Amino acid sequence: MCRGSPHYTLSSTGRGPAATLEAVSSSPRATQVHVPVSASLFERAAAIIPGGVNSPVRAFQSVGGTPRFIASARGCTLTDADGNDYVDLVSSWGPMILGHAHPAVVEAVRRAATGGLSFGAPTEAEIDLAEAIAARVDPVERVRLVNSGTEATMSAVRLARGYTGRPKIIKFAGCYHGHVDALLADAGSGVATLGLPTSPGVTGAQAADTIVLPYNDLDAVAAAFAEHPDQIACVITEAAAGNMGAVAPVPGFNAGLRELTTRYGALLVMDEVMTGFRVSPAGWYGIDGVAGDLYTFGKVMSGGLPAAAFGGRADIMNRLAPIGPVYQAGTLSGNPVAVAAGLASLRAADDAVYAALDRNAQRLGGLFTEALTAAGVAHVVQFAGNMVSVFFADRPVTDYAAAKASDTWRYPAFFHALLERGVYGPPSAFEVWFVSAALDEDAFARIAAALPAAAAAAAAATPEGSRA
Ligand SMILES: *Cc1c(COP(=O)(O)O)cnc(C)c1O
Repeated sequence: MCRGSPHYTLSSTGRGPAATLEAVSSSPRATQVHVPVSASLFERAAAIIPGGVNSPVRAFQSVGGTPRFIASARGCTLTDADGNDYVDLVSSWGPMILGHAHPAVVEAVRRAATGGLSFGAPTEAEIDLAEAIAARVDPVERVRLVNSGTEATMSAVRLARGYTGRPKIIKFAGCYHGHVDALLADAGSGVATLGLPTSPGVTGAQAADTIVLPYNDLDAVAAAFAEHPDQIACVITEAAAGNMGAVAPVPGFNAGLRELTTRYGALLVMDEVMTGFRVSPAGWYGIDGVAGDLYTFGKVMSGGLPAAAFGGRADIMNRLAPIGPVYQAGTLSGNPVAVAAGLASLRAADDAVYAALDRNAQRLGGLFTEALTAAGVAHVVQFAGNMVSVFFADRPVTDYAAAKASDTWRYPAFFHALLERGVYGPPSAFEVWFVSAALDEDAFARIAAALPAAAAAAAAATPEGSRA
């Protein structure tokens, strides 16, 4: 277990890849998987790509250690550049509900690619994908395809402002909507203070029209509307929060947002980039039935290629260029290869797939509970549909403040004990575990075998250990 020199205590701050490499190769643990190729790739990457990665969480900063460079993936298994296999419980942060390299999706991509990679002109498959999205999510009457979830939320917010002629938006602390400037805002002190930029490069002006409120706090939303009755263009919310761990809306929260936005003439933007087509065939809408005015989608509907979408009421969506004044565009939007992957994924995601996702999530959560209970670690396993989280807390987490107050310092030990035993979970305490339908008995056997040591490592962790 992790006495001695646990490598996960390193590189959480300023240490570079060289320190990580040394720590990994000198780790005494018998179960240590060998990752010299990943370590040297990380070193090479860090010399040309900031932090060695193209999206921050991949750098393992909050858990330490060496990010695994992935060579290939099939079904529920990731294979790293050193030839180690892992049960994948990240699923590319959500998209791969069918598992990796699903034959029907790969074949659709191959056929599309053979027919030409990009035309900058409309194709029939874009209609098919837009129709497939609208067919699953009733309130969606029009759809526009974009390239990332960030673009979808950025466009939805612009459209909401253009449609209502109002400047302000409400978002919730702990909800992530991509790296849109106006959505990279955090609450100042006090409940209804205006947003403060959370990243250099976001100006005060860009954040000032963003009102950041605690998630699951309807009174705070009502108070903000009372204070700015004709200034709020939209409320944007994750239909069920998955970016502070799995934090489902409390009963009545989404319905209350629907009621307040309608009463004050604002729009409700349901961000289903994570939940869409994952937690049910119709996403979170299929679970609680609360209709948004606008929706954003990504992840699953992309099949793993860069594609995303926003959509909603026809009268709002028809304000978009070229038929309306709100500008929005994209050179590669509706890319034929990405559209083929997304369409093939949605077509393959039948009732049996959703039943398997739900079953696998419950089974994973049950294994977490069993192992952590046996090890005597205070914890709460939470679900938002089939998204799963472990919080090292003694009561359910309903907002970001509670998520941050949990014993997140136990997480690196838990994460690394699993990783070393061939189970690849999210390298951050605030991310959910994404199951796929491809998880099989072997995968669960490996998870079950790894968990007792991971629970023991979480039990033995100290707050100082994770900050060393
Ligand atoms: C992932 C995510 C986004 C951003 O999508 P990208 O494709 O990473 O830009 C937006 N909203 C939610 C809820 C997400 O989970």
